[in-house]
Amino acid sequence: MKKRVLITGGSGFIGSHLAEYLLEQGFSVICMDNLITGAIENIRHLYDKDFLFIHHNVTNYIFIDKELDCILHFASPASPRDYMELPIQTLKVGSLGTHKALGLAKNKSATFLLASTSEVYGDPLVSPQSEDYWGNVNPIGPRGVYDEAKRFAEAMTIAYHRIHKVDTKIARIFNTFGPRMRIDDGRAIPTFICQALRGEELTVFGDGSQTRSFCYISDMVEGLYHLMLSDYNLPINLGNPEEMTILDIANMIIKLTGSKSKIVHCPLPENDPKVRQPDISKAKKLLHWSPKVSIEEGLLKTVEYFKKKIAS
Ligand code: UDP
Repeated sequence: MKKRVLITGGSGFIGSHLAEYLLEQGFSVICMDNLITGAIENIRHLYDKDFLFIHHNVTNYIFIDKELDCILHFASPASPRDYMELPIQTLKVGSLGTHKALGLAKNKSATFLLASTSEVYGDPLVSPQSEDYWGNVNPIGPRGVYDEAKRFAEAMTIAYHRIHKVDTKIARIFNTFGPRMRIDDGRAIPTFICQALRGEELTVFGDGSQTRSFCYISDMVEGLYHLMLSDYNLPINLGNPEEMTILDIANMIIKLTGSKSKIVHCPLPENDPKVRQPDISKAKKLLHWSPKVSIEEGLLKTVEYFKKKIAS
């Protein structure tokens, strides 16, 4: 029997890549999205496959009349610009939406995988971050709406595992990039690439010494797939441990695009994490997974995507 997967947020950046990958692995895929940050153009090419799109906001009761083997809960605004513009929707989808998706998983006896985030570590006081670090989050800061929603989602997920014996997984997803990020989502990589391609100044926030570790989308999708199939129920970091400063990534993008753009420094947003680097030893050991695509290789593919996007 073919296995069926529901992806909430399935028309977003990571959700749509997961949908495509799972179809290739022989799954039947249902994608649910309210399209506030996702887009139909990310999934249109899947319509002729074993694929169904349902337009629905998962903070409301979810009804599916089919059996489900797995629910991948990816619905949420995920870029700082989006969740700061949509603070209440972000809190609702992380809390009410996670509750609804978990209830559905219990009802269908389906495996449940939560898309959590490195943001649960907030502005971390230890680096690299391993799963046993509890984080440093300002609940009432501008990023608190996302961080606390995802922390609540993790708590709810583990409670459903402990009390209702739902087979749950928690992926703490670190910065991920690739095709299908939105031009205007405000995140560093799509913003810098589009600025470089248009010959505009690259807007580095602060002095650019803050660090991030960027994982290419195909590696992330494989890590998520390994986690979905695993029997591990506690949180697990997924990301690329190659850490770099934001200034370095801006300069790398100028070089790779052959752009004449210069860098301009803008004010650093409040509570912007100073460092971020995943400790992925757990994922390596338990999932036999580690990222394969270098940042340069991933950036070149992403640049090609944005070149076409800007021209269209
Ligand atoms: N950033 C920047 N210029 C931009 C967008 C982002 O310097 O135009 C910085 C941001 O302040 C942060 C880092 O790049 O330090 C990564 O930001 P992003 O929004 O991609 O994600 P975050 O890791 O902060 O969630």
